[in-house]
Amino acid sequence: MHPRCLLSITALPQADAEQLLLNAGRCVSWIQRGGQLKSSSLRGTSTLLLFAENSTRTRVSFELAGKLLGSDTINISSKGSSIEKGESLRDTAMTLAAMHFSCVVMRHEAADSAEHFARWYPGPVLNAGAGRGEHPTQALLDAFTLQRHGLLRPGAKLAIVGDLTHSRVARSNLALLARFGVEVTLVGPPNLTPSAWRVGAGLGPPAPGASEKAGQDPPLRWTPDLDSILPELDAVMLLRVQHERMAGGEMSTQDEYSKLYGMNRRRLGMLRSDALIMHPGPVNRGVEAGEDVFSDPRCVINEQVESGLALRAALLAWALERELDF
Ligand code: ASP
Repeated sequence: MHPRCLLSITALPQADAEQLLLNAGRCVSWIQRGGQLKSSSLRGTSTLLLFAENSTRTRVSFELAGKLLGSDTINISSKGSSIEKGESLRDTAMTLAAMHFSCVVMRHEAADSAEHFARWYPGPVLNAGAGRGEHPTQALLDAFTLQRHGLLRPGAKLAIVGDLTHSRVARSNLALLARFGVEVTLVGPPNLTPSAWRVGAGLGPPAPGASEKAGQDPPLRWTPDLDSILPELDAVMLLRVQHERMAGGEMSTQDEYSKLYGMNRRRLGMLRSDALIMHPGPVNRGVEAGEDVFSDPRCVINEQVESGLALRAALLAWALERELDF
């Protein structure tokens, strides 16, 4: 496996995570200054985007980041590729290896897909979402968004709300934010929360280099009652209801869900005036968030998209061991 793979957030050394956030800060100012300015940081490299599951933000931001930094980007999706004909991930990896891409960014419905692919691909592999397993770049961009607002620090209070069972976003965020000492409370209906999280089990093994960090391995907090904690939060992260991963029977009705967990005018009134409202997107409008949320100044959903572009630019440079030339 190549040492510059990002397969899960726990495997990313803390020093590298901190450097990535720092470089994302450089990238965001560069993007804001120059709009579509080009850099040659990744000149002479090629980036393959292999998306076997739907995506707008993740795929486009990786592609744009690669292009802005001067990498040649090529897209394949399962539709129209040999994956649709039943080619195994191992064979796909070996085929692509013969074409010598400098880096592969991949999304797939299986939770272990990125690890499996990286065993057969000699270059860096970046996990852009693996089933209900991990979504490490989402966690990094969310951490970066919190950092932009001074909230990536010990004692900051964040709630992750909604369909926890099916959420790779929740899994990766929990692991990463704990390393920075952020106090995360999980909020969701019991039948959409893994049982280990309801009883407060730990987060798994510590990240390399993170063992001495504040907040390492804190107890998990979970509650089904969003209203009881809203007023004390610095940030609330809403999760999409993942209908495509449900077998059926997990949810009563969308109305019931939005009544208990949706951000609406009444709940906006309970949130502090300086709190942030986050959502990884895509949003089911009217379910996780009502129309009022999108015009609320505390809503940073689109800022998360900008953070994603910057963070993924920094990550490509990390994976390809290149310096940013701006
Ligand atoms: N876009 C995020 C993901 O790919 C969140 C979501 O789809 O709910 O996991």
